[in-house]
Amino acid sequence: MPELPEVEVTRLSFADRIAGARIVSARSGKPLRWALGCDPAQLAGRTVRAVRRRGKYLLVDLDEGLLLLHLGMSGSLSFADTLPAPGPHDHFDLATSLGVLRLNDPRRFGAVVYARSEAAPEAVKLLGRLGVEPLGEDFDPAVFHAALQARNAPIKQVLLAGDIVVGVGNIYASEALFLAGIRPTTRASRISLARATRLHAAVRDVLARAVEKGGSTLRDFSNAQGESGYFQLEAHVYDRAGLPCRVCEAPVRRIVQGQRATYYCVRCQR
Ligand SMILES: [Zn+2]
Repeated sequence: MPELPEVEVTRLSFADRIAGARIVSARSGKPLRWALGCDPAQLAGRTVRAVRRRGKYLLVDLDEGLLLLHLGMSGSLSFADTLPAPGPHDHFDLATSLGVLRLNDPRRFGAVVYARSEAAPEAVKLLGRLGVEPLGEDFDPAVFHAALQARNAPIKQVLLAGDIVVGVGNIYASEALFLAGIRPTTRASRISLARATRLHAAVRDVLARAVEKGGSTLRDFSNAQGESGYFQLEAHVYDRAGLPCRVCEAPVRRIVQGQRATYYCVRCQR
């Protein structure tokens, strides 16, 4: 599943190249998770202003309205001068004066949604409950700590919920909790300011490194292949059940929380 760093790297791969493009035509394929919400023909003639990211949504700003793109479980974007005829999993094409933007999504949990503005109900429905951006200036240790105080759920699940801070997916949550020395089952409300501050730094660090790692592969996808897979970080604990902790050599433990696998070190994380 594309996580925040993959989405950000996808954005970086085509945002500059599509800015200023005039839309020639749009094509919708099979139904995606949510409907486009307008006739694709209406998009023709509009201009792409910029591509932003909010959580795992890409916001393609047009001179009138915007498109919200989500990659779902298996989506990827391509942007190229020309693309072959759409295949069975190519469900949205935006042909522009500067190239074709295409969403390929075999499992169709992704979506492209048109909204008249970011304040319109169709956009608020998707973006309205997102927490702060982990790499942005609004993500502040004291505010983060105060928000955790109000939650009794285990910290790992609070991170994954995305309403305090967005985009900390399963891999990055396990890794950040390891770096902060916090056991994933700890109730969020019991985390001290000092530990919340460490976790805040760890979340930023792990995500920033993943973006950097993905960014270093950008020149390889000159066709703006969003097909990134994961940027394989040197994981400390994620997917390392039974293997020695890289710090203390105790075997990494795997548990299941909210139907998601969690990995942690019993010695390094308390
Ligand atoms: Zn350890």
